Amino acid sequence: MNRNELPPSVECEVLVVGGGPAGCAVGTVLAQLGHRVIVLEREKFPRYHIGESLIPFTYPALERLGMIPKLKQSAFTRKFSVQFIAPSGRASQPFYFFNRYDRETIAQTWQVLRSEFDQLLMTNAREHGVDVREEMQVTELLWENGRVVGARARDAAGQLTDFRAPMTVDATGREALAATRGAWRRGDPKLNKVAVWTYYEGALRDPGIDEGATTIGFIPNKGWFWYIPQAGNRVSVGVVADGKYLTRDGVKDPGTIFRREIQENRWIADHLAPGTCTGQYWLTGEYTFRSQYCAADGLILIGDAYGFLDPVFSSGLMLALKSAVLAADAIHEALLAGDTSAGRFTRYGEVMAEGMENMRKLVYAFYDPNVSFKTIAEKDPVLAGDLTDCLSGDINKDFSRLFQAFAEITEMPAPLPYGTPKLQ
Ligand SMILES: Cc1cc2nc3c(=O)[nH]c(=O)nc-3n(C[C@H](O)[C@H](O)[C@H](O)COP(=O)(O)OP(=O)(O)OC[C@H]3O[C@@H](n4cnc5c(N)ncnc54)[C@H](O)[C@@H]3O)c2cc1C
Repeated sequence: MNRNELPPSVECEVLVVGGGPAGCAVGTVLAQLGHRVIVLEREKFPRYHIGESLIPFTYPALERLGMIPKLKQSAFTRKFSVQFIAPSGRASQPFYFFNRYDRETIAQTWQVLRSEFDQLLMTNAREHGVDVREEMQVTELLWENGRVVGARARDAAGQLTDFRAPMTVDATGREALAATRGAWRRGDPKLNKVAVWTYYEGALRDPGIDEGATTIGFIPNKGWFWYIPQAGNRVSVGVVADGKYLTRDGVKDPGTIFRREIQENRWIADHLAPGTCTGQYWLTGEYTFRSQYCAADGLILIGDAYGFLDPVFSSGLMLALKSAVLAADAIHEALLAGDTSAGRFTRYGEVMAEGMENMRKLVYAFYDPNVSFKTIAEKDPVLAGDLTDCLSGDINKDFSRLFQAFAEITEMPAPLPYGTPKLQ
C-alpha cells in the first residue's frame, strides 16, 4: 500500500473492538436484536486473563446472553458464599447468598477459569451470529468530522483493513483504547493499589458447601488477600495493598513480596502450606480509573474500557456484562432511530456512573481502618440488607441510608464528575 492509498474497507452495522467478556456480550445482545456485528480481538483465544470470581448479580446479564445452561454444565467451581478472615486467622461467619436471594437464580454463581469462560462467551457470540475475528489488532479509531466511523486493524500477516460502521464499541479492557488515546483517562489516586498474584495446586479447601467460597484475608495496613478455589484442585491467590507497603525495605521481586505477605495472615499461610505454587507471579498497578466520557458521536465505551474499580468486591465482570447489555439496548434504539450521536447514551452513562459510585463508596470504606462492615450490619437489619445488595452487585438502588451510616464514621468520597457523553 503506498502512502496515499487507503486500506481495503469492510462495512458493518456495529463494530466492537475487543473480544473479552464485555465485547462478546455486547455483540451477542445486538445480534439477538437482529444487527450485523463484527468483533475484532487482538489475541488468539483461549488466552490468560485475571478476574475469576463472579458475584450474584452477574446472573441477569448471563441469562440474557443465554449463558446459564452452559455455566451449569461447566466444570467451574460453584460459589455459594464469601467469608472474611482477620490477620490472626479468625474467620467471620460465611455469608451465604441463598439466605437473601433465590437459590435457583441470583444466588448461583461461579469461580471461573477466565481462559475457558471468555472462550465460552466468544463461542456463544458466534453461535448467535456475531462475526468474531481473532488476531486482529485495532491500531486506531477512525474519526471523521468529530465522529467515530470505525477502526483500522492489522491482522496476523500485517495487512491493514478499515472497518466502518455507524456505531463502534470500545471494549478493549484496561488498555482503554479511546480513553487512553483521547486523554480521557482519570485516575482515583486513593485507590491506586498494587496486586501480586499466583496459582497453587493442592492447597487446602474448606469442606462441603464452603469449598468454592471466596475468602478475603486481611493483612495489617488494610491490605488483603483473595483466595479463590477453582476447578482441578487449583487456587488463585493474590495480595492487594499500597505499593509503598508491599515494597517496604526495598523488596521489589513479586515472588518475594508475595511470600512475605503470606506470613501476615494465619489462615492464608495455613491453607497454602500443603500446596505447591504452580506458576509465575503476576503484578499489576495503575488501578482504578474512569473515562471522562462514556460515549462520543458513533462511539460507546463499555467494561473496563469505560472504567475499572479496585477488585476487592469482585465487581469487574458484573460491571462489564451489565454495561454491555445496557449499551446494546441503547445502541439498538439509536440504530432504529438512525441517530448514533453521543447524546443518545446519556442514560447509559448515568446508570453506569451511579452504580460504580455506589460500589466505589464501599471500596473507600473498606480501606478505612475505622470502618467495620460487621458493626454497620449489626446496627440495623435494613442496613445489613443494603450492604449485602451492594456487595452482591445490585448496585443501582437508593443506598442513602447506608451511606449516611458510613458517613458518621468515615469520609465518603465525592462522586467523580466523569462518565457522561462527549457532546459536540
Ligand atoms: C488483580 C485483579 C483482580 C481481579 N479480580 C476480579 C474478580 O475476582 N472478579 C471480577 O469479576 N473481576 C475481577 N477483575 C476485573 C476483571 O478482570 C475485568 O473487570 C474484566 O476482565 C473486564 O472485562 P472486559 O471485557 O471489559 O475487558 P477484558 O477482559 O480485559 O477484555 C478486553 C479484550 O480486548 C482485547 N483488546 C485490547 N486492546 C485491543 C486492541 N487494540 N485491538 C483488539 N483487541 C484488543 C484484549 O486482548 C482483551 O481480550 C480483576 C482485575 C484485576 C486487575
